[in-house]
Amino acid sequence: MKWQPTGVLALAALIFTPLVASAQSQSEQPYTYQADVPSVEPVLGYEIGTKISSPDAIYHYFLALSESQSERVKLIEYGRSWEGRPLFFVAVSAPHNIAQLPDYGANMRALGDPRETSKREAEQLMRTVPSSVWLSYGVHGNEISSPEAAMMTLYHLLADTSEDTKSWLDNTVVFIDPLQNPDGRARFVSRYYATVGLMHDADRRSAEHNEPWPQGRSNHYLFDLNRDWIALTQPEIKGHVAALRDFPPLLFVDLHEMGGDSSYYFTPEARPYNPYITESQREILHWVGRNNAEWFDGAGYDYYTREIFDAFYPGYGASWPLYSGSVAMTYEMASARGHQFERKDGSTLTYLDGVERHFTSSLATIETASIRREELLSRYREYRVSAVEQGRDSDKRTVILADANNKAGQQRLASLMQEHGIEVMSNSSAVEVCDTRYPKGSYFVDLAQPNYRLIRVLLDEQIDMATDFVEQQKQRKANLLNDQIYDVTGWSLPLMFDVDVTYCDDTVTLPIVDGTIEPIAPGRVINPAAQVGFIVQADDANGSRFIAAALRAGLAVKQSELPFTHEKAGTFPAGTLILTRAENNDSDLAKTLERLAYDTGADVVGVDSSWVLDGPNFGSENVQSLTAPRIAVAWDEPVSSLSAGHTRFVIERQLGYPVTAIRTTQLVSSSLEGIDVLLMPESQASYTTYFSASSLKNLRDWVERGGVLITLGNATGWAVEAGLLSTHMEYATHSGVADDASETVLKPAQQIESEDALKEHIKASEKMPDYVPGALVNVNVDQNHWLTAGIQSELVATFTGNQVFAPLSIDKGRNLAWFAAGDEVLASGLLWPEIKQQLPFKPQLMVEPLGEGMLIAYTQSPTYRAYMDGWLPLLANSLFLAPAKTK
Ligand SMILES: [Zn+2]
Repeated sequence: MKWQPTGVLALAALIFTPLVASAQSQSEQPYTYQADVPSVEPVLGYEIGTKISSPDAIYHYFLALSESQSERVKLIEYGRSWEGRPLFFVAVSAPHNIAQLPDYGANMRALGDPRETSKREAEQLMRTVPSSVWLSYGVHGNEISSPEAAMMTLYHLLADTSEDTKSWLDNTVVFIDPLQNPDGRARFVSRYYATVGLMHDADRRSAEHNEPWPQGRSNHYLFDLNRDWIALTQPEIKGHVAALRDFPPLLFVDLHEMGGDSSYYFTPEARPYNPYITESQREILHWVGRNNAEWFDGAGYDYYTREIFDAFYPGYGASWPLYSGSVAMTYEMASARGHQFERKDGSTLTYLDGVERHFTSSLATIETASIRREELLSRYREYRVSAVEQGRDSDKRTVILADANNKAGQQRLASLMQEHGIEVMSNSSAVEVCDTRYPKGSYFVDLAQPNYRLIRVLLDEQIDMATDFVEQQKQRKANLLNDQIYDVTGWSLPLMFDVDVTYCDDTVTLPIVDGTIEPIAPGRVINPAAQVGFIVQADDANGSRFIAAALRAGLAVKQSELPFTHEKAGTFPAGTLILTRAENNDSDLAKTLERLAYDTGADVVGVDSSWVLDGPNFGSENVQSLTAPRIAVAWDEPVSSLSAGHTRFVIERQLGYPVTAIRTTQLVSSSLEGIDVLLMPESQASYTTYFSASSLKNLRDWVERGGVLITLGNATGWAVEAGLLSTHMEYATHSGVADDASETVLKPAQQIESEDALKEHIKASEKMPDYVPGALVNVNVDQNHWLTAGIQSELVATFTGNQVFAPLSIDKGRNLAWFAAGDEVLASGLLWPEIKQQLPFKPQLMVEPLGEGMLIAYTQSPTYRAYMDGWLPLLANSLFLAPAKTK
């Protein structure tokens, strides 16, 4: 079938003006476009919808229009992707609004802060502040149609001569971020065009429609950027959040794609609702959806709402803005995942279909923003006024971050809260608050601020879903149906970062930190002229980074497995590092250590003797010499690209140590000689089919010769299957009784006396535990082992999925971390009742010696989304101390 490209003018003829009462024009005529605004074709050399534009082309088009229409468009860059591509947005509006753009942020902040502006002043502001909508496209690089729709939307707003468009821009600023994930899109586009033959294939089995690993969805480090809005680890989202703080919009839309057999999804969103989203915001979502529906009806486009895509987890792009008072939502278009796609009903979905629909919903939303300007502004004000009031009335008025056991985590959390736009206070000398004395450099957050709900949604230990919704999900589970929860149910940052946060009823008045709170507070060297050596405590992330940096710098580093008390410098916990002058024969040693302390945040203490009063001496057998290990991670099919990416990111960018990514085809066919540590991330399909008997033997021989194999999450299940780990996985505790072996079709009658008994009766035998969408669970740590040197006795882990392992028997290895007892096990989120009973005392971390080497098995990955910072020290021990123990 020949595919006919359609130009903008023909395309626009498909769009009908909505029939809303307040719309001024009822015209069904095609739009008339101003000739002096360049469309895509003269700038890029092809008509819109005929090509999946590269990130360079999209940037080029936006730049061209911002230069030729500078009175009405301003382009602002907010960062660079990992691969160096620009991250940017444009503000589009009438010239008088663009001229006022430098004041936009300050006006919105004033409007949204009752501590700064009175009711009267706010009313005054509302007369002049424009409405606003922020349209974000292409966060998933293989969801291709939305960035094209962004170009079309920009062109339309600038070139269309209709009264509607003029009136929108007269009172509304439209922010367009056309491409949130340029690296992912670049990956998709290059591979898509590399597979195309004589014609664009619509067959879903074709190479065009099946991307190789890793797909274009994720960014360079293979993160799903649409989950990163709470931990802000990736430049794409860090920059986006900073941009939204500078230019807070009233409406925010994140435009996606979904499976090609679907239609179009827009707001209102599905249950469960996050309780910190207000009724008023949900009403606005309804307005937007209702107006979109008018436009879609007018154009004859199918759509649906409400059934899927909840906003419970705050780490989506379409959730995060909600907690600062914007009204955020997600749109989803069926994806052609190429130029055309044959749907199950036999029809063909084209790339242009997606572009048109995203274009239509974009315009409809702009119209809502414009028509509802006054209501949106006053509700924004109300939202933030009520936030300050609720914070002021809260019985936990002040949040205090002063965790002497985890200074690195405390610093990271304070820095992150500030990055989220939360006001953080600090003290330059010790203060007494709520009968407790806090040292200088502690952090305090007053809840009575406009971002009150954002603070709560990030810090609360538990946020409950509606009881009736949870009951419904339990019913579905009983009928072996999937639950309707779209993402994790627990994400409390203090728990994930292992930082003790205290709350106090009192109001605390301290200076709000004006400058940037750096995520790492520079460490220092005390007594740099020390004669004998230096001691570095390594029980938090600063210490973990220090190990990595010192080994990379070629220093001789030793690590004590036990605590010790130095005669002058005091007591140090297990895991502490020792660098002696004798072994580091370098006149610049103190200088090098000063640089490392500054970069990593670890403090270094110089000592003039090695005499200890208690615990091992520097030359003890309980002090291990570390050598810089070569660390590798399994890469490519069947590895989960997310898990591989998170793992590589955590080691490379959070610990600062390089990782060799080895494709599984190499892993099963090459020698592992020279590799010290091999990580097997979680996998999509089992590793079992990838390892032949001989390649598995090769791997096992490598471990037995001294290799450290680390399995993460479900890779631990594979280790059991492969005979590398001497335990087993468990069925659900209450799975039904297996049938007896009798072959008869007739069996004695069983009386069933209640509905509950019926439920018991029909339970599947040998059933796997119910799948957990993602909760936080408490873990206890056995501190009497070198691998847990310096690790606290309690940690919080993720629990996702349904793999539960039996503990290792003591003759096979050690269970070094296990899920907490009874009701203590759940730290945050939702665990199904059966698995909650099953989890206590089951292992999270096991170590099994194999010959000279060992297997370190995490049953839940500590690198999940790179936001479980509390696990960095344990991971560092696994990577740096374990290989020292095998030598
Ligand atoms: Zn998406």
